[in-house]
Amino acid sequence: MTIDQSIPLSKDRLFNWLKTLSNQLSKGTLLIDINDENLPILHANPYFSKLTTFENKQVINQNINILNGKRTNEKTIEDLNLHLKSGSPKKLTILHYTKEGSAFWNSITLHPIRNDEKIIQYVLLTCEDTTEETLNKMIYKLEHEVYQAIDNENNLQSILNLISEKIELFYIRDVYCTIHLYNKNYEIKSMGSYKLPEYVINKLDLLEITPNSSFNKSAVYLKDFTATPLYADISENYELDALKGSWTKLILTPQNEVSGILTLFNQDSTELKQIDINYLNRLTLLIQLAIKYAEQKIQLRHLAFYDSETSLPNIHFFKTHLSEWLNTGELGFVAIIHPTEFNKIVDLYGRNAGADLLSQLANRLREYLAVDDVLISRFSNSIVLGIKGEIGFTTYYQKIDLLTLIPFLIDNNETYITLKIGYTTFDQSLTVDQIIHQSDIALSKARNRSGNSFEVYEENSTKQLIEEMEIINQLAYALHHEEFVVYLQPKINFTTIEVEGFEALSRWNSSRLGFIPPNKYIPIAEETGKIKEIDLLNFKNILIWLQKRLNKGKRILPVSLNISPDHFYDPLFLENIQNTFNQFHVPPQFIKLEVTESIELVDFKRAKDILDQLKAIGIECSIDDFGVGFSSLSYLPQLPFSEIKIDRSFVSSMDEPGMYAIVQTIILLAKNIKMRAIAEGIETKEQLAMLQQLGCPAGQGYYFYKPMSISDAEQLLDTKKTADEK
Ligand code: C2E
Ligand code: MG
Ligand code: MG
Repeated sequence: MTIDQSIPLSKDRLFNWLKTLSNQLSKGTLLIDINDENLPILHANPYFSKLTTFENKQVINQNINILNGKRTNEKTIEDLNLHLKSGSPKKLTILHYTKEGSAFWNSITLHPIRNDEKIIQYVLLTCEDTTEETLNKMIYKLEHEVYQAIDNENNLQSILNLISEKIELFYIRDVYCTIHLYNKNYEIKSMGSYKLPEYVINKLDLLEITPNSSFNKSAVYLKDFTATPLYADISENYELDALKGSWTKLILTPQNEVSGILTLFNQDSTELKQIDINYLNRLTLLIQLAIKYAEQKIQLRHLAFYDSETSLPNIHFFKTHLSEWLNTGELGFVAIIHPTEFNKIVDLYGRNAGADLLSQLANRLREYLAVDDVLISRFSNSIVLGIKGEIGFTTYYQKIDLLTLIPFLIDNNETYITLKIGYTTFDQSLTVDQIIHQSDIALSKARNRSGNSFEVYEENSTKQLIEEMEIINQLAYALHHEEFVVYLQPKINFTTIEVEGFEALSRWNSSRLGFIPPNKYIPIAEETGKIKEIDLLNFKNILIWLQKRLNKGKRILPVSLNISPDHFYDPLFLENIQNTFNQFHVPPQFIKLEVTESIELVDFKRAKDILDQLKAIGIECSIDDFGVGFSSLSYLPQLPFSEIKIDRSFVSSMDEPGMYAIVQTIILLAKNIKMRAIAEGIETKEQLAMLQQLGCPAGQGYYFYKPMSISDAEQLLDTKKTADEK
């Protein structure tokens, strides 16, 4: 509607003319005198009465502020009055109230009217109920915000909170909004409410609606909440004036099952209008959508961030969260934890068993470490652990070390495992990939050590890795050119103090890299599978030597060979040993095999089978480095070993009472299960005396002889030199 703003009429004639005009308009219209500072209403048309339920006489000489109510925005009131006073044209939307107290959005337009002297005399104010339109706009806006929240990976709880917050802030009535959802067990759980305190929301969980209630799914239920026992209960502790009536609408799944309820608690108990019902319907649809999308997102997220074999978080999950830590300036460490026996377990029981081991390990880590700010994810054949904060890795290591004391149940077998751990500390100066790479380098170092062990990344770690790469490259060459030789360390009988045999130890003097100690290349050879060839080569060289001496009619003594556990489990192992052995005529009692302690624990049955078959052909076996791993003592008597070798670390600290007791126990144990105890690494007279006192029958060590070349051993045998003559 356009009105000519300069109608050439005197003030009185103008007024009458405007009255007639306004009565013919199909919008609520007021005529306001702006020359009086109270801005009185001089006339209201019939449409205005219909819209506001105020009769004409009730508004005459009042001003527009009569329509204001509790939720009318102060700023908009001021804005409207200012424009009225100055008589300037204006359009605005304001929340107004009818005489009966229902709120509506009022779209107001101000038209200044001038008299024939061009002076503004009146303002013609037209108004229109645009509640539906405004609510629609709000819902569109809310929908947009909800989609954005879903896109930003917000969780369902925060999305539903957002919805209830917007409803409470912008709805035309003063309401509290709660959203309750059923969980998988059909327990109801409050998911949203902005203004209500948690105490009240939790109480509202008790609403008497169950998924089986036979509700008419399209209806909205208006209920006098004040009449419920719950109201009485809550209002004892909480001022609940505002909660009078409540409207409840069911939230349905796409399959039309009840998934929750939306409740608006409102202050006024006025009747619901069709627009309220429409609004609620649209809100429940929006909530339904939010739930559906949130569920889909969760599924997608699960696929992207979780490992399907173990259900553990995967490396992407780890990297994403680690980079968040880095962005917020956190400090901490990352450790890659690898079960040494992983490959063996996969070979024996299959891939699922490997995955199972990793998830059991992850669970134990969570349980033993018991820290909140922790990231635990699967990373290939390892677990990667991230902890933020000031406490360093070594403090946590004590707990990690403990978790291997109890066997893991793999494919129904009790299995002891050992852990190799590489870790690095992090701060903002590093990228996520650098941190993982550094932990990997440290892990490579730790893999070269026995038992549970850890290494930290250091600047020179990269150098060590390069060295390892060189060793890997040279191993094949060395095997081809037979650069490996065996050295022999005599074993001494403690009763006669005579040499009773030898242990064969591998030595490598590389033409390219110089002398490399076994502790460096044996673990690498094990990792690369080359150890099998090295062990067989040593075996062959020992047989050649023994055969030569036999052929010359010279005396020989038993020689023990170290056999790598990997080799021991190789299905071809027995065949290879037998084939090599059969090429010579050395009696089997002159050959012994040493395997490290953890071997029988991975697969007790297979270990027993192999040991039995070796025994059948006359070859005896020893358990090497006893006490370092985690032998299950109950298995030990059933395995046909003939010797237990007490690890050097115990012998070297026998002067400590605790260690002395351990050595004593091992010697006793060996006696009880009819095995011989052999002490390793004897370096002093005192150690020998103590071992003799404990009844240890034999041993080896620098105190008697260092490992020597075959020709030196030859000389030793030929001169019949014994330890006491030395
Ligand atoms: P091991 O079988 O326990 O061998 C004993 C180690 O202790 C040898 O180290 C030996 O030189 C050292 N040793 C002996 N007496 C003393 C002593 O009184 N004091 C000190 N400090 N050390 C002493 P080596 O030769 O460096 O071998 C290290 C490990 O490498 C061996 O431990 C064994 O597990 C492995 N190894 C050596 N040769 C072979 C081999 O041919 N095949 C396999 N699979 N492993 C081997
Ligand atoms: Mg040995
Ligand atoms: Mg040993």
